[in-house]
Amino acid sequence: MNTTPHDLIPAPAAVRVPVAGNAVSGHFPVRRIYCVGRNFADHAREMGAAAPTSKAERGTPVFFLKPTDSLVLDGVAAYPPGTQDLHHEIELVVALGADAPAGVLAPENAGSLVFAYGIGLDLTRRDLQAAAKAKGLPWDTGKSFDDAAPISTLIPAEDIGDLASRTLSLRVNGELRQQSKLDMLIWDVPDILHELSKLYALKAGDLVFMGTPAGVAALQPGDVCEGALDDLLRLDCRIASPR
Ligand code: MN
Repeated sequence: MNTTPHDLIPAPAAVRVPVAGNAVSGHFPVRRIYCVGRNFADHAREMGAAAPTSKAERGTPVFFLKPTDSLVLDGVAAYPPGTQDLHHEIELVVALGADAPAGVLAPENAGSLVFAYGIGLDLTRRDLQAAAKAKGLPWDTGKSFDDAAPISTLIPAEDIGDLASRTLSLRVNGELRQQSKLDMLIWDVPDILHELSKLYALKAGDLVFMGTPAGVAALQPGDVCEGALDDLLRLDCRIASPR
């Protein structure tokens, strides 16, 4: 009899996002996916939420998570079941390359955790999210599903330079749907890592989807999404027929 502890079912495949830098290339193994809601004032307003006009009144960020295996790496996301209103949300994605020290991470120390950046789509079953919101229920079914997180190749942080001057955009079937400079983020990357560290032990392998600007709208099977961060990062994703 085999007494060595062993897997009793096949182990799920690890999820690895390609990294392509000037000096570094390889793969980024993913642990968790944190997401930020309402991090651009124009998007908060289009969703009917109040938008803070100063740092003093911004309160605390809205966080949720997506499953690691909801990442889409091959540029094809199947239209999900259970919805009539799948929305695109183009977002900056932060990839952590080190564990945070115990306790609350100071914003001025947050930069040392950041390994790379990418862009991703926080695909959302808006009808399910809206129904949950209306009842004061969690957003999980609206945000967490198979193929919910298409993501680009990552670029090492040292190759990106100053983020705030960069412009994030999304075209669908060639038409510009979303566009914003990253200096419009209500909570920037150090602020978000500081706030997340109050709630979770951040570790190497964690991704953070930073929230979307205004212009979210419905996607249909066959639509072609082209996300970009200037000419540095590109995300191509087609919405395929339901599985
Ligand atoms: Mn989002």
